Amino acid sequence: MSELIFEKHSRSEADWLPEPGAAEEKILERIPKQFWRKKSPKFPSVSELDVVRHFTELSQKNFCVDTHFYPLGSCTMKYNPKALDAIASLSSYSLIHPYQDIEDSQGALKVLYQTQRYLSEITGMDEFTLQPAAGAHGEFCGLLIVGAYHRSKNEHKKKVLIPDSAHGTNPASATLCGYEVVQVKTNAKGHVDLADLKSKLNEDSACIMMTNPSTLGLFEDEILEIAQAAHKVDALVYYDGANMNALLGICRPGDMGFDIVHLNLHKTFAVPHGSGGPGSGPVGVKKNLISFLPKPRILMEGDTYVFEEKAPQSVGKLRTFYGNFGAIIRSYAYIKALGAEGLKAVSENAILNANYLRVKLRDFYDIPYDSICMHEFIMAATRQKKKGVRALDIAKRLLDFGVHAPTVYFPLVVEEAMMVEPTETESRETLDTFVEILKKIEKEIEENPQKVLEAPHTTPVNRIDEVRAARQPDLRYSEVRQTPNS
Ligand SMILES: *Cc1c(COP(=O)(O)O)cnc(C)c1O
Repeated sequence: MSELIFEKHSRSEADWLPEPGAAEEKILERIPKQFWRKKSPKFPSVSELDVVRHFTELSQKNFCVDTHFYPLGSCTMKYNPKALDAIASLSSYSLIHPYQDIEDSQGALKVLYQTQRYLSEITGMDEFTLQPAAGAHGEFCGLLIVGAYHRSKNEHKKKVLIPDSAHGTNPASATLCGYEVVQVKTNAKGHVDLADLKSKLNEDSACIMMTNPSTLGLFEDEILEIAQAAHKVDALVYYDGANMNALLGICRPGDMGFDIVHLNLHKTFAVPHGSGGPGSGPVGVKKNLISFLPKPRILMEGDTYVFEEKAPQSVGKLRTFYGNFGAIIRSYAYIKALGAEGLKAVSENAILNANYLRVKLRDFYDIPYDSICMHEFIMAATRQKKKGVRALDIAKRLLDFGVHAPTVYFPLVVEEAMMVEPTETESRETLDTFVEILKKIEKEIEENPQKVLEAPHTTPVNRIDEVRAARQPDLRYSEVRQTPNS
């Protein structure tokens, strides 16, 4: 078990920080007394080497794409090329300040402006904002635009239609924006049930939120008819672009009838995410919605980049400054490096890898919707459940073999779901190894199920009480809590 950095502090409490010296006293004189600390802060006093060892050791306990296969469906844990980090770290990007004069920030503004143009071209939309900080924030932005659009026509529609397979952020964003969520069913083929959708669409429908390919990894082939039906009652069609990494250079939401899209740059365009870094959720719209985009927009006047501040219909500012700049630069560099053909190859290989696994695994796992999939597919541990082992147990056992678990129990419409997204960056050898590991686990379920039920055996902690961990996020261990220094 790892020590806390506070436990490495070996001296007495009186020794936390040295008393202020003459230099500090001088600074203190300038700070009004009421802002002075009453007590010294509790900074552990350890050597630089001990600090480096402590955090390096902790970092090595982390499961990450750079060390392990990470087929976490929907999250797109592809490899993030290190060259992109190097580009984002260039001093011309990393040392500029958002309050710097606009004349001195032309290079940065050019990156932002061109990223807006590339994303518009890739998705078939007319204009983009880069402000939203991640996908869910993009949904929030998109739904504000939906409201602004209807209000501009003096309409006050109350309902948002969302398929039952959707990511939880969709209904959460709609509810946050004051809408009532109407759930649309999935049919036997795993697609949105068109008849159910049509029966629920009416004059009170503000918007329908669609994910295509869906979270079941399937392309919604009736999307044109869905968009047409929505537009007939003046409902806008929103594209959750978390799965856009399946469509790059192949087809575009803008051509399918979508009015608003969000992208997850951190999923589709190779930006470290999760614990690895912040996300970015740009939102694109069709021409008739441009005036509602968040302000300020970045425009080009002649050969100068400027901010458009006069935007009376805008939904307002969503975030300080212009978005997560570091994530945007990485995506810009990724798009530039790959070009149109490279981006298309990303999606084609992501689709190929997912189908390769689907076919290899179908003999020993149930594949509820076993047709050609896009970049991910759902397998179900229903056969295994009959023998007393569930998806969660298999997920935990995978950790012992150095594989991050697939997403489990999502989408909610599939029992014992395991959502596998290999991504395009994995080799055939890695995919074959994954299949072999799952076969081994399958054999264990037959011969020694206890081994799977008690997994993981090799990780720093065994199974944790996930509900308690979420509700009481106290990262200290109980014995640590009792030490005098903590
Ligand atoms: C990841 C994801 C989201 C949310 O995006 P964040 O960037 O995590 O906020 C929404 N929908 C789907 C389908 C997703 O996979």
